[in-house]
Amino acid sequence: MRKHLIKSKKLEVVEQMGAAISHEIRNPLTAAIGFVQLLQEDRVQPSKRKEYLSLVKGELESAEKVIQDYLTFSKPSFGAVEVLNIRRELAHVLTIVQPLANKNSVRITSDFAGVGFVEGDRQKFRQCFLNVLKNGIEAMPSGGELVVETLFTPAHVGITIKDTGIGMTKDQLDRLGEPYYSTKEGKGTGLGMMVVYSIVRAMKGTIQVESSEGEGTAFHFMFPSTRNIRKENLS
Ligand code: ADP
Ligand code: MG
Repeated sequence: MRKHLIKSKKLEVVEQMGAAISHEIRNPLTAAIGFVQLLQEDRVQPSKRKEYLSLVKGELESAEKVIQDYLTFSKPSFGAVEVLNIRRELAHVLTIVQPLANKNSVRITSDFAGVGFVEGDRQKFRQCFLNVLKNGIEAMPSGGELVVETLFTPAHVGITIKDTGIGMTKDQLDRLGEPYYSTKEGKGTGLGMMVVYSIVRAMKGTIQVESSEGEGTAFHFMFPSTRNIRKENLS
């Protein structure tokens, strides 16, 4: 099964997401404050105290997940366009996901033949691949292989991320990238792939997804490559 970028309807929604994200963070925080207020009351029974504390923890975890999918690399310079060394940026994100891979007994292999550059916002680029790699690892709760490959041609940079995880049904594949679409019952935000599609579009790239249930998923990214790079950017 294959899926091609880009459904314009989804993307209109993406444009309005900034406000929604702040809402998504505020809701659990408001709920957490409510439970803390209950805890501050004088005669709280010990059993209730425990219950409220675990509710506070759950709400804070929800807020943290939204931030992770959306704002992990946010800094004041957000939006700046730079020349990005693909290999270096991917290596950076792989270091970040390594602990999660270890936890799920996932082996990561990467094949970065050659050097390639794209133009884009460094933080967004990292966020995009963090979300894809995390999904790949989360699709393999009892172990598997995550393969990251790059292909550099004079005009294009290709990046493939493949997992041997649970895969997706046709319906799941169709809904990929829809805001709040998640199959991770309470554990997912359903924002990760929406963010991926939006970043790839901003970078004038394309995404192709192949998936089969029980076998795994491959994401193929293609970006226009940047040439004539000055020496200092090559490190
Ligand atoms: P979340 O990870 O919070 O559920 P995402 O937007 O990152 O939200 O992903 C949306 C859904 O797409 C996931 O819940 C899952 O069903 C599906 N998905 C994404 N990547 C993969 C993958 N590598 N393997 C299987 N399913 C995937
Ligand atoms: Mg995700």
